[in-house]
This record gives sequence, C-alpha cells and structure tokens, in this order.
Amino acid sequence: MIPGEAPRRLVLLGHPVAHSRSPRMQTAALAAAGIAAQYDALDIAPEHFEDAVAMLAKERAAGNVTVPYKERMRDACDSVTPLAEHIGAVNCWWVDERGRLTGDNTDVGGFDAAVTSLLGRRPRDLSVGVLGAGGAAAGVLGAVESWPGCLAHVYNRTPERARLLCERFRSAAHPVDDVGVIAGCQLVVNATSVGLHDDAVPLDVSLLAAESVVVDLVYRPNETAFVRAARASGHRSIDGRAMLVEQGALAFERWFGVSPDRDVMWRAVAQD
Ligand code: NAP
Repeated sequence: MIPGEAPRRLVLLGHPVAHSRSPRMQTAALAAAGIAAQYDALDIAPEHFEDAVAMLAKERAAGNVTVPYKERMRDACDSVTPLAEHIGAVNCWWVDERGRLTGDNTDVGGFDAAVTSLLGRRPRDLSVGVLGAGGAAAGVLGAVESWPGCLAHVYNRTPERARLLCERFRSAAHPVDDVGVIAGCQLVVNATSVGLHDDAVPLDVSLLAAESVVVDLVYRPNETAFVRAARASGHRSIDGRAMLVEQGALAFERWFGVSPDRDVMWRAVAQD
C-alpha cells in the first residue's frame, strides 16, 4: 500500500461480530505503531452487505471479514489474490492505488504460523485431522497443501460439504466418515464453530492418539472446553488466539506496509 494512501478507517465486517477480539487487537497495534486510524466492528445484516461494502470502498476504508461474509466478500471485490481465489474466501481487504477493492486471505498464513510455533518447527510428514468443512477448514487445507508430506483427513457433520471441499484440495485432503480417523491423527484441528458459545467439544478427547497435538480455531474466555480437556489428557493444545494474532498481523502488513508489534497484539487478545 502506498504510504500517502494508507487507510484511516478499518472495519471488521461480520454478523454477529460482538465476540471478536480483532478490534481491541488492531487498536493496540495501531497505537503501538503510532498510526492514526480507527478500527471498528460493523455488524451488517445480510441484505445490506454489498451496499455497505460499496460505501466503505468509496471511503477508501480497509479491514477484515468474518463469519458469514468471507465468500461474499470475495465476490464483492474487484480483484483478489490467487490465494484468496484458491481458498474461496477473503478475510482481509483494502482499496488499492487504482481505487480497486482488493481482497486477500491471511487465515492461511495465520494458521500456518500458529502450528509452526506450536510444533517448534515447520510442519512436515504429518497426518492432519480436520473437523469441519467451512471457510476456516478451507484455510487449514490451504496451509496443509503447502506442508511437505502432509495429508489431511476431513470429517464434517454434513458429509457432502467435506467431499466438495476436499475436491478443491485433492492433492492434500480427502473426506472421511469416521471421526475416529480424525482422533488418530498427529495434528487434530477443530475448524467447526462447536465450542464458540458454550462448553461443547467437537470430539471426545479420550479417543485422541497419545501423540496428537490439538489446535482449536475457536477462542473464548478462559480458552475452549476442547483445549482444556485435551491439555488435561496430556496433549499439547492451543486455541484460536495464536492464529487470530498472526492473521491480523499479516493483514496489518497488507494495509500499512509495515509489521505490527505482535507481542502487543497478543497481550490485547490474551485478556479475558
Ligand atoms: P462456517 O463456514 O460457518 O463453517 C462452520 C463449520 O462448523 C461447518 O463445517 C459446520 O458443519 C460446523 N458446525 C457448526 N455447528 C456444528 C455442530 N453443532 N456440530 C458439528 N459441526 C458443526 O464457519 P468458518 O468460517 O469455517 O469458522 C469456523 C470456526 O472457526 C468459527 O468458530 C470461527 O470463529 C473460527 N475461526 C477462527 C479463526 C481464528 O483466527 N482463530 C479464523 C477463522 C475462523 P456443517 O457443514 O454441517 O454445517
């Protein structure tokens, strides 16, 4: 992004958005970087989505997108990166120097960085069990297909959706109808929204293989029940905050051309 044209207004588009920690995280990053821009969450009703996006593009705003608009944002953009096109979802957007609404996907890089940090090395030769087949699962598969020797097994409540998703990531993923296959993987990822609003778990942790490492993309105060249960059973486990910070930091780099202070961002999301 050209420095003179850096956005002054940053907006998280979603429905609902109240639970998101992105506003406090990005506000802390902006303050630490000395950038005079405002980041707010905007809860948009489905029937107003395209109009709201057009207004924000006119203002030369930038921002993020969350559930349920990542696919619609891809269609609303004038141009999307090859990665966002491949994943089929935009979670980060801005207006380029030619006035074109541009979309990218930083969820893939965010997930990749979270897992790399958890494992302490670049993932390779891993079996990956993925629960869910929505936009977040697509981001996970985008990362898995870049990891040498890794294969993802995908289980979803609605099997047809898992089958369709895996067709798009054929070299790295295949659908399974037995959740036990997921539990037996070295890396187990919850990419469903189970546990977002309550203490429900997407998988019985007693089924996990001894060496399974667990990543829950969901986050909520006091961590998720899935992460707590996995850890209590002796598994290394993290919730969605590590991915949240990294996808947000990568978005910040797209908007301003500089890296934010990730420690500041982490402290902002770590507060319950
Ligand atoms: P989505 O496209 O709406 O997909 C939701 C997925 O959850 C689908 O696979 C759905 O299955 C499954 N699901 C929902 N309720 C379920 C239930 N009761 N039992 C079993 N499966 C259920 O949402 P998404 O964008 O993929 O997001 C999924 C989660 O990831 C959200 O909680 C979101 O907050 C989180 N996320 C976190 C980050 C981060 O940075 N940490 C980034 C992206 C997403 P069906 O297909 O059967 O409906």
